[in-house]
Amino acid sequence: MGSPAQHFDAVVVGSGFGGSVATYRLAEAGRTVCLLERGGPYPPGSFPRTPTQMRTNFWDPTQGLFGLFDFWSFAGLDVLVSSGLGGGSLIYANVLLRKDEAWFAREDTSGAGREYWPVTRADLDPHYDRVEAMLAPQSYPMEHEPYASTPKTRAFLDAARRAGREAFHPPLNVLFGNEGEAPVPGTPIVEHEPNLHGAPRFTCRLTGECDLGCNYGSKNSLDFTYLSAAARLGADIRTGCEARVIEPRPEGGYTVRYIAYDPDADGEAVDLFDPARVSHTLTCDRLVLAAGTLGTVRLLLRNRAAFPRLSRRLGTRFCGNGDLLTFALKCSEERDGRRVPRTVDPTYGPVITSAIRYADENEGAEGRGFYIEDGGFPAFATWLIQAAEMPGDMWRFRHTLARLLRERLRRDRYRHTGRSAMLAALFGSAEMSAGLLPMLGMGRDVPDGRMYLRHNHLRVDWRKGRPGRLSRQGRSSPYFERLRDACHELADALGAEFRDAPLWFLSRVITVHPLGGCPMGRHEGEGVVDAWGEAFGHPGLHVVDGAMMPGPVGANPSLTIAALSDRAADRILERERPA
Ligand SMILES: Cc1cc2nc3c(=O)[nH]c(=O)nc-3n(C[C@H](O)[C@H](O)[C@H](O)COP(=O)(O)OP(=O)(O)OC[C@H]3O[C@@H](n4cnc5c(N)ncnc54)[C@H](O)[C@@H]3O)c2cc1C
Repeated sequence: MGSPAQHFDAVVVGSGFGGSVATYRLAEAGRTVCLLERGGPYPPGSFPRTPTQMRTNFWDPTQGLFGLFDFWSFAGLDVLVSSGLGGGSLIYANVLLRKDEAWFAREDTSGAGREYWPVTRADLDPHYDRVEAMLAPQSYPMEHEPYASTPKTRAFLDAARRAGREAFHPPLNVLFGNEGEAPVPGTPIVEHEPNLHGAPRFTCRLTGECDLGCNYGSKNSLDFTYLSAAARLGADIRTGCEARVIEPRPEGGYTVRYIAYDPDADGEAVDLFDPARVSHTLTCDRLVLAAGTLGTVRLLLRNRAAFPRLSRRLGTRFCGNGDLLTFALKCSEERDGRRVPRTVDPTYGPVITSAIRYADENEGAEGRGFYIEDGGFPAFATWLIQAAEMPGDMWRFRHTLARLLRERLRRDRYRHTGRSAMLAALFGSAEMSAGLLPMLGMGRDVPDGRMYLRHNHLRVDWRKGRPGRLSRQGRSSPYFERLRDACHELADALGAEFRDAPLWFLSRVITVHPLGGCPMGRHEGEGVVDAWGEAFGHPGLHVVDGAMMPGPVGANPSLTIAALSDRAADRILERERPA
């Protein structure tokens, strides 16, 4: 039996950057708001770390999985997004950069793959200011120890200097120190209002675990900021609730039907297409879609028949924000006239601390612009990397075993009881894991991907293309070649071996920044929503997440998504203000 429909001024679907900002802004203005988030809440300490917990830390209800990581594989690219209260902010690398002024391209869109941004940097600046005031980003405090000695940061800065580039420390959505105090790892965070988890938080402990979810609450993720504030204002926040059916109501406004997952039903497969499961109903005056690029476009495509006036541009202008992962392997440095291995230790620090910006053709440079940032990962991942050195390790392991056996046969095993040195030698030089610097690139790839349904499942056609070949799709190839060359140059500057991400040779990339599919445009022939995120032809239907981008943000996109959502909220509230 379904529950009776409840009515709200606004229903928001998804609690990432777009959804959290919209929920807060509408609740702050006194609107009744219900936020539906399919994933669960993640208080500090609840993020899985052990292999047993990680096994179920993925999102696929059809397989009984209700975890944090939602991994998709499409033609030409793989995509990783998040499922949980706070969306991508739970597992993101905390970088909050504004979109570069020169990258709000205003091109003639009759040429394939070209972009027109109906908003400018000046339009967004007041909203960037407002979001930053709430998220309170801090740059990596390089003027203090122990931060100043972070080996990977030092290595990245050296690489930039030697390559003749300028590196900087971008704003990070992390607390390193309380306001007015010197930053110290692991000190209690002073919160002026209780957060919605009711849990204590601590400053960043430099564990490289940002992308797995921070168990110390050091990130200012959306659950600690916008969502806590929205909850205090009375927003009705429902986790484990996945919107499946949306439609306009004949009398105006919209209906949303959703599945409420049983929080104790871990492991129990759910048939998402069983109408009996979609048993909860809400109605609203405004429906705000913020389920992330994949979630929002999938929801609209599946319910398209109910929205006959929706633009034919639905599903177009997809891109992965030019994401590219590469590695500088076995970094080295010169000491006493000799090249020796350099310790980079990517496990120390937050995942990203520094960035280099490469200019764009819009600014007189050659090719499309991008950023390269230092990467990091948790300490336990180094054991996996060591395993990649397996042939050497196996040899050492056999050698040590043979030595122990020989000693035992000679019955001289008690001659020296200390085995530390022998065991230490088992680890070899650990050069691979200690001297590795991941490099994360992103920028202005070409938004020529298309999203559609086949057998009711989401498909994305986007290809980076092969060097030298500019097929209908795959116009991003020159961009990726330029970005890859720049990464190569940084690896060379560190006396390192350059390595592509494992799937590069299959012409595939992996993105954590899927964008587009429901693009902003000046009219319905160009986009699905206007410059404030409201759908052409369906007043009161709004899209305020990554899907609304008409092209790549270029820089890390979260701050821009949040700023656009803040701007959309202004517009909704202005329109509703009594004359
Ligand atoms: C490992 C990683 C590192 C990253 N690092 C950075 C970074 O440093 N800086 C940066 O700017 N960006 C970063 N990103 C990208 C950033 O997380 C995304 O760009 C951003 O979160 C997108 O915001 P959004 O509002 O579009 O959607 P999301 O944040 O993806 O939120 C969408 C939410 O909607 C929910 N949802 C989906 N479908 C439904 C449904 N039908 N019903 C109810 N709920 C639904 C999802 O569970 C999710 O919580 C990173 C991402 C990853 C994965």
